[in-house]
Amino acid sequence: MKGTGVSAGIGIGKMLLIEEHSLEYTPKQVDDAQAEKKRFKDAIDVFCKNTEAQAETMKKTVGEKEAEIMLGHISLVQDPFLLGEVDKLIDGGQCAEAAFESMCDMFIQIFSSADDDVTKQRAADVRDVKAGVLGLLLGINEIKLSEAPAGTVICVKELTPSMVAEINKENIVGIVTETGSTTSHSAILARVLEIPAVMSVPDIMKQAENGVQAIVDGIKGNVILSPGEAELAEYGEKREKYLKEKQELEKYRGKPTVSADGTGYELVCNIGKPDDAAKALEFDGEGVGLFRTEFLFMDKTSVPTEEEQFKEYKKAAMILKDKPLIIRTLDIGGDKDIPYLGLAKEENPFMGFRAIRYCLKNRGLFRTQLRAILRASAFGNISIMFPLITCVEEVREGKALVEELKAELRAEGIEFNEGIKVGIMTETAAAGIIADLLAKESDFFSIGTNDLTGYTMAADRGNSDVSYLYSALQPSVLRMIRAIITAARENNIPVGMCGEAAADPMMIPLLISFGLTEFSVSAPSVLKVRKCISCWTKEKADEIAEKVMALETAEDVKEYLSSVI
Ligand code: PEP
Ligand code: MG
Repeated sequence: MKGTGVSAGIGIGKMLLIEEHSLEYTPKQVDDAQAEKKRFKDAIDVFCKNTEAQAETMKKTVGEKEAEIMLGHISLVQDPFLLGEVDKLIDGGQCAEAAFESMCDMFIQIFSSADDDVTKQRAADVRDVKAGVLGLLLGINEIKLSEAPAGTVICVKELTPSMVAEINKENIVGIVTETGSTTSHSAILARVLEIPAVMSVPDIMKQAENGVQAIVDGIKGNVILSPGEAELAEYGEKREKYLKEKQELEKYRGKPTVSADGTGYELVCNIGKPDDAAKALEFDGEGVGLFRTEFLFMDKTSVPTEEEQFKEYKKAAMILKDKPLIIRTLDIGGDKDIPYLGLAKEENPFMGFRAIRYCLKNRGLFRTQLRAILRASAFGNISIMFPLITCVEEVREGKALVEELKAELRAEGIEFNEGIKVGIMTETAAAGIIADLLAKESDFFSIGTNDLTGYTMAADRGNSDVSYLYSALQPSVLRMIRAIITAARENNIPVGMCGEAAADPMMIPLLISFGLTEFSVSAPSVLKVRKCISCWTKEKADEIAEKVMALETAEDVKEYLSSVI
């Protein structure tokens, strides 16, 4: 079966289907209230036991703070008022499911209508708890990813970042999904975990069965169900070859990133969590070119406080020591939802109230994040980066706020880096077109090709019907990239690329020719990109770029580039 290979490698193992369960039921009248109350109490006990175990694992795999969220769920479900009211409803003849659900819904309604974010978040907690307890009452067994046995291939309709957080890397040999693409966040996480993954495989949940053997070819984007002997042997060999090539890349470890004619480049990593900074170093990255701070917000049940954020940013800075750390301010909206922020449903979320737009209008949240970043800047080589910039005013407003907060910290006698750099993501068509104006306002650019491709081609990165248009090798996107790099160079500011295209071997000679100065890629791609860069001289890259920029279609560009790479 064909899909999109989003994380390279070959995995061979047994399928584990993660089904979505419906929590629907028919309420019934109960005659034996005592028995029903016991059934309810038993479910609560099991819920607490399971949640405690989850919290224990989370403490080890994710962190103490996240584990506390789970413990909060236990206190919630043990609330004497809630339990008392459910019992009363059962005494009145309702079944445990209906009694518990109606009490939860009442709390959800009260909490959701509150004005402050913290109380609103309680509604999301109650929703989680409601689903967990109802699942137990209805006898729905949720499969726990963290407990999947060795040699498991996960098969799921949609892989969420929270599922990825539960994955035990030693046991999961492959991931197959019905939705998602190379740039979806769960794909990015799969690459960091180095698990072969194929996404957007139509109807895989219907075709696959639990326990069936499967081959996941994350390089070609193929999934083979119940392979025969010959296929198993063929892919076994391919896996060996892939692992051997990976081994060969090791000779680039610890070496500087230079082209064949000796020009040096910065080769840094994209991360989502402070601990990934260690991963970046482990893979020989030279720092961090993009810290996606959304994950810190996604993993919580309410907006992290200044202190909490400060600790996380400081942690990443301390791991990296004097190596660069570019922290991108909150980039929510589009495909990145944070339920507790209660963003309204929009007709066109990718063009809606998101990223820098949201932050500039929610000053409290933005100030908290910027203060935390500024404070952490006393402990490392931190820069600030604003996402989704479309006009000069957004940069000016963001920078003015940074200045205001610097003054505040100065007055409070709190240390920070006075010279902290403030740059922007150039990832919209607007930013590409006014790159010359934006370069005068910014300390650096980072080209986000994941979004830039989408906004330039007017093609949603997650929509498979328009995926044929979504390519950074489209002549329009290449012209955007060239214009952005040229504007940066003319204004003497550094220009990097943190979109997925930065690690594409076909793109690399073009970027060298245009004059990119920094490549920010997923940690496992570092050595491959260093090797690619080392193959090109500026002269040869220019020759190729000149030919490519005269071509008229993405297909021609791909065909030509594959013939010379
Ligand atoms: C991009 O758009 O290229 C980018 C790096 O940001 P994200 O993928 O987080 O939107
Ligand atoms: Mg982006």
